[in-house]
Amino acid sequence: MEISHIEHIGIAVKNLDTAIKYYEQVLGLQCYAIEEVTDQKVKTAFFKVGETKIELLESTDPESPIAKFIEKKGEGMHHLAFATKDINKSLKEAEDKGIKLIDKEPKSGAEGLDIAFLHPKSTFGVLTEFCEKKK
Ligand code: ZN
Repeated sequence: MEISHIEHIGIAVKNLDTAIKYYEQVLGLQCYAIEEVTDQKVKTAFFKVGETKIELLESTDPESPIAKFIEKKGEGMHHLAFATKDINKSLKEAEDKGIKLIDKEPKSGAEGLDIAFLHPKSTFGVLTEFCEKKK
């Protein structure tokens, strides 16, 4: 499978504005986009760190996966996203190699990416995302 780099690291936060302040005022990074992804019931904020991004995730619905995650584990690292050249091919390859998929088909993510998640039970506890830039 053709993975080029870590596209982003997703971090679950209770409050986007408070978290943005830390990334901007302490780390000196700049939030370049805030986007709501209705599909995932989250509001996201993005920072660039080289080729990789930090994606902050705030839940917009108490029933969303991010709300549930924070309820169970508290704020913190939520997922690791790899950029892949062909998301459908990568998903198929992972499944063929016995990896449990959360998404069998790609969905629309933030920043116009096609995204899909692998199950953390198959990936040593790390919720893993594949991303492909839409053509
Ligand atoms: Zn993500």
